[in-house]
Amino acid sequence: MKARVNTSIIPDTLERLMDVRGITADKVRAICQELGVGNLRELTTAVTLDQLESIPSLTPENRKNIRRALKLEKDIDHRIQLWDAILQGKEILQYIRQFPEVKKASFAGSLRRGKDTIGDIDIVVEVAGADRKRLLYKIDRMPLTEHIIAAGRSWICALLHNQVLVYFYLTDQQHYGATLLYYTGSTSYNLSIESLATQKGYRFDANGLYDMAQRQYVTAENEEEIFRHLLLDYTPPELREGQELVVAANQHKIPSLVTFNQVKGDMQIHTNWSDGEESIERMAHYVFSVFPHYQYIVVTDHASNERTGHVLRPDDISRQAAEIIDINNAIGHNYVKKGVEVDITENGELSLPDELLKTFDWVIASVHSHFTTDNTARLLKACENPYVHCIGHPSGRLIGSRHPYPVDWDQVFAKAAATSTAMEINARPNRLDLNDTLVKKAIANGVKLVIDTDAHSLAQFDFMQLGIWVARRAGCCHTDILNTFTWEEIEKFKKSKRNAIA
Ligand SMILES: [Zn+2]
Repeated sequence: MKARVNTSIIPDTLERLMDVRGITADKVRAICQELGVGNLRELTTAVTLDQLESIPSLTPENRKNIRRALKLEKDIDHRIQLWDAILQGKEILQYIRQFPEVKKASFAGSLRRGKDTIGDIDIVVEVAGADRKRLLYKIDRMPLTEHIIAAGRSWICALLHNQVLVYFYLTDQQHYGATLLYYTGSTSYNLSIESLATQKGYRFDANGLYDMAQRQYVTAENEEEIFRHLLLDYTPPELREGQELVVAANQHKIPSLVTFNQVKGDMQIHTNWSDGEESIERMAHYVFSVFPHYQYIVVTDHASNERTGHVLRPDDISRQAAEIIDINNAIGHNYVKKGVEVDITENGELSLPDELLKTFDWVIASVHSHFTTDNTARLLKACENPYVHCIGHPSGRLIGSRHPYPVDWDQVFAKAAATSTAMEINARPNRLDLNDTLVKKAIANGVKLVIDTDAHSLAQFDFMQLGIWVARRAGCCHTDILNTFTWEEIEKFKKSKRNAIA
């Protein structure tokens, strides 16, 4: 229990510190007096400058909990990959949606914006005021929860056993839209919404959208109503990063972003002809039944001299081609395309000769070695090969374990556009390569992208959604993404490459 002492000298905005586990009124008073802070903003600055260290009554655990509650825990090691956050977040949503107190719940924060790594999981929950204590009790007792870090009238911060933090923001039906918008962020996006709202006679903050003339909060069950009040185009969460998107929404220039339903095929897949787990037949039938809107898949096993594992040998190529013909005959049309992923060697050559490359429907060339040198020349040379259609995972980064190698992207994207060579958005959770920033630059240069799962097993076809997120964050429409095209249109793209090189 917290000490019941006179809190009169604690400023209103700092009272919520007493919602933090282990922080008593005495401790809050010590913070105010010794750091000379009088509001949340000053406190945030002091915490960022590590000034909490100077207060003897605070334990290391107290300091950590305050940093967590204020979302100032900036340790890079704590960031989790988007895919892990989605799986974890879905489990929590599924759990809390069973509580009768929870009317509605959605992801917010960087998870909803589809960032490639996530600091913590944010969830907006519709719950009646009278039910909030009961909800806190139930969240504390979820099997996933280690303990509650902080809890106030309108928020709960829970630490999971895997050390991921989950922030639940509690709201009611009338304010759900504004709460979701506010906690989806980003911070810089919210700041520009705030200033635009002020210009239009409103105030926008964590409590909602306040109409200055009517002297009341606007009721909005969803975000769309808030955008309508502000006369803005609805802006998808993936685009809510900076102020320029608020300007675009005000001028009704929000692009129509690519969606998963527009995807017509997956163009990098590995089978047990190289390092994949499944036969071509199993993968084809799986995708055919689970993703009925796909029109084709491209099998792209590794043909490599550099890889030590199982690879497609030159004399396997015709046998694999015969197998694909049999499978397509059984399906009834040319559903499975015959592709390959070749290495770009150190001097920019490819791991198969042109005479073999030209027998494939689709050729991906990828860097699989020398990850620290400047690889601009290798990529440029690969683009110049008339039989290379796409550069795989072009930057070589592995999230959390390998930095991207140095590349002059201006040169590479100019060459890719000039030679009609596509660039990949590799959707594997630890790749997401190209990333959102580079995709944005690529489309500005007129480069076409392909979103591939690089699936090595059946479950990995689900990664497509991650690649879609990257593309959407970069502002891609379906016309930027080759695998939203029919195969006949892709053949035209391949022809434009042959014409460009000739
Ligand atoms: Zn690869």
